[in-house]
Amino acid sequence: MVGFARISNELVCDGVPLSAIALAEGTPLYVYSAATLRSRYLGIDAAFGAYPHTLHYALKANSTLALARLLRSLGSAADANSIWEIEVARKAGFQPSEIVFTGVGKSTAELECGVALGLKAINVESAGELARIEAIAQRTGRTARVAIRINPDIDAKSHPHISTGLKINKFGVPLDTARELFATVPARRALKLVAIHVHVGSQITTLDPLRHAAALIARLSDEVARVGVMLEYLDLGGGLGISYDGRDVPSAAAYAAALVAEVRRTGLPIVVEPGRTIAGPAGVLVARVIDLKPRTAESDFAVIDAGMTELLRPALYGAFHRIEPVKPRDTPEQTYEVVGPVCESSDVVGRDRRLSRLELDDLVAIFDAGAYGAAMASNYNRRPLPAEVLVDEGRWKVIRRRQTTDDMLALETDD
Ligand SMILES: *Cc1c(COP(=O)(O)O)cnc(C)c1O
Repeated sequence: MVGFARISNELVCDGVPLSAIALAEGTPLYVYSAATLRSRYLGIDAAFGAYPHTLHYALKANSTLALARLLRSLGSAADANSIWEIEVARKAGFQPSEIVFTGVGKSTAELECGVALGLKAINVESAGELARIEAIAQRTGRTARVAIRINPDIDAKSHPHISTGLKINKFGVPLDTARELFATVPARRALKLVAIHVHVGSQITTLDPLRHAAALIARLSDEVARVGVMLEYLDLGGGLGISYDGRDVPSAAAYAAALVAEVRRTGLPIVVEPGRTIAGPAGVLVARVIDLKPRTAESDFAVIDAGMTELLRPALYGAFHRIEPVKPRDTPEQTYEVVGPVCESSDVVGRDRRLSRLELDDLVAIFDAGAYGAAMASNYNRRPLPAEVLVDEGRWKVIRRRQTTDDMLALETDD
């Protein structure tokens, strides 16, 4: 039994009852399925088939060390969004040549580190950043491998907070600027332009924006070939969405076929940077009901011990996550406003949910929380970061222990 399923009505992860893990480790608690993580990674990898490709898992979705290691063991490379993600990637075993470094604002210290490491590429977000990288490379006697991130002015039709490909978004270099930069790189000896990069957003559920971005990058690769630059690959970013609510999303096969169709004639290998589609479905957040009270004539509040501090997405984007009791009662469904314990009215995990009757101390599972869940957790209200557990082949282990108050205070002085 692989992934999250029910055995005689009780929710299990790779065969292990979530209630058993919660009993041992307490709540709130992230539980990941190693089998799901593997199958999500291998599914995309297989979808590209024989076409030359590398998956650079986007660490920002979830960079808990054990998960990063597991993905690396499957052959994944890495996409890092800060020098600290690069440090974690290195600890997980990724070589500099397996890491691309993205990020709309990289400090001088981060760029110095990135150039010194000799990363596969620094994905450059502005003419100024390219000049700073060049200066660092010249000063240190290195050649910096760079990709230029294009802002394609494409609407990813995702949530405005996670769309990155429109001109009004802060990401990337507009086309005309990119063309000017392409013309300059052949003469800039400290820079090696290895790729063109695009990433139009996250949780993209139609292929058109991804297809258009890929087509644009393929056309631009023709243009740079004409000025004598031989690219090594095309980096088409991440962004493939997952189904949080059961609605259809593009399959890995359809996704890969769409990208390969646009790029094949260039003969260049494809790099993609999937995050959510790999880690999202591999994790649930397990929480306990800690209070129940009437709300309206039709609904009750169910207060749980996880909220925006453990899973920010509902409060941040109005994101939907399926919620189910771990052991549902055999009662008619009723309507609950499932809320967190944090002192913010936006701390609502699920609105108007139809669930079988809940009682105090019941466990609920919040699905598809493996990406942008634990990674976005915070200490607001001095709430400790939750524990994380990985289930693999019927055994489970804590891959991140629950934070303690002493862990938090270890950074502080009061004298
Ligand atoms: C966030 C991000 C990704 C991953 O996006 P997903 O939607 O999780 O696949 C990939 N590339 C870049 C540059 C990003 O910023």
